[in-house]
Amino acid sequence: MTTLRAITGTRDILPEEVSAWHRIEAVARTLFARYGYREIRTPVFETTELFARGIGADTDIVAKEMYTFDDRDGASVTLRPEATAGIVRAVIEHNLMNTDPALKVYALGSMFRRERPQKGRYRQFHQVDVEAFGLSRPSIDVEVIEVALAYLEACGLTRFELVLNSVGDAKCRPAYVETLRTELRRSASKLCADCQRRIETNPLRVLDCKVPGDQAIIDALPRISDHLCGECRDHFAEVRRELNLLGIPYRLSHRLVRGLDYYTRTTFEVVSGELGSQNSVLGGGRYDGLVKDLGGPDLTGIGFALGMERLVMLLPEQVIAGRCDVFLAPLVPAALDKALLLQRALRRAGFAVLMDPEGRSFKSQMKRADKLGARFVLILGEDEMAKGVWTLRDMAGSSQAEVKDDAVTGHLMEKLNG
Ligand code: ATP
Ligand code: MG
Repeated sequence: MTTLRAITGTRDILPEEVSAWHRIEAVARTLFARYGYREIRTPVFETTELFARGIGADTDIVAKEMYTFDDRDGASVTLRPEATAGIVRAVIEHNLMNTDPALKVYALGSMFRRERPQKGRYRQFHQVDVEAFGLSRPSIDVEVIEVALAYLEACGLTRFELVLNSVGDAKCRPAYVETLRTELRRSASKLCADCQRRIETNPLRVLDCKVPGDQAIIDALPRISDHLCGECRDHFAEVRRELNLLGIPYRLSHRLVRGLDYYTRTTFEVVSGELGSQNSVLGGGRYDGLVKDLGGPDLTGIGFALGMERLVMLLPEQVIAGRCDVFLAPLVPAALDKALLLQRALRRAGFAVLMDPEGRSFKSQMKRADKLGARFVLILGEDEMAKGVWTLRDMAGSSQAEVKDDAVTGHLMEKLNG
């Protein structure tokens, strides 16, 4: 029989790793609340149409990465490849902006993309997602960026880089895209096949190309920063002024673009040199046209999505938290009942208590207690049974003492809480 294995591109988060996940989840909840964000949970699958409209047909995600299938009734459904489209759908469906015109939400959860699996790139992965609706001033762009960076710092990261750009808006971008297209057509034959296609479908995405041979040509292309309209230029200048005011360093990159029409103005990304080739930790930007495009009111939006697997990879080594306050070692079969009762009482008193139920030798039980990082071991052998005591061993000080049966809980409370 062949061994059953996890599907390519999916991975198990094993108990050893899960404490890191608990940490970044807890930090997200506390930190985002401080900025006024509340959690939203949306389904992991939605109609295919939502993503086709909400992400755009000429993107890698929609063109080749979606897990799409026909449901039993023939409806086409898709496992969510990102969170924003589903959140926007929920905002519209429940009229959330009526009760809160400045709506701030965050979400944590699994995303699904059929990519080529490699380090930091999976087919099921997890994102932290932050979105703010109905706010259009530059200050909110800066706040969203600040939340992202504060989150990374609160998780213990120190080395990362913020990359920043503005992609203009519906007024100034079309003219720039045409300029770009004209320029690109001149050097089309020297570009990779993907870029040649993009010249016609979506020239902005050429700026995103990673093919080494294309880089010199792309770097010399006209820059969007020289083609912004007055309003976009002012918005971007104010974003940078406020970032400077708050002492947030950034690097400008004219090549940081989002190829979709509803993306406007500020785009940003945080990269880390420690991630290798998948160096992007999070990406975000303003998407003022999306809510309307998905059938809602004309509501601005800005947000970011962060890859949790990549964040976990970057976390500084953590001391694994002790999992055991007290280890119980009943050494003879007759000691079992007393051990079971004490185990229950101690757990109810709030302690993490473990016991080796297999009746192994004293030596192997002590080894196990040591491995579990137990702070105290309570030993119950024939001697102790006869005297009505437990032997309490302090693993740190390696001292031991006898404690009367009825005093054990109180004694431990004092030692462990004190
Ligand atoms: P990339 O350029 O790495 O493919 P992307 O532009 O597709 O990233 P976004 O859609 O902006 O990424 O997603 C935001 C974040 O989610 C990324 O910065 C990354 O940390 C994470 N991410 C994206 N795709 C994957 C994946 N397949 N596996 C793990 N993490 C991912
Ligand atoms: Mg991608």
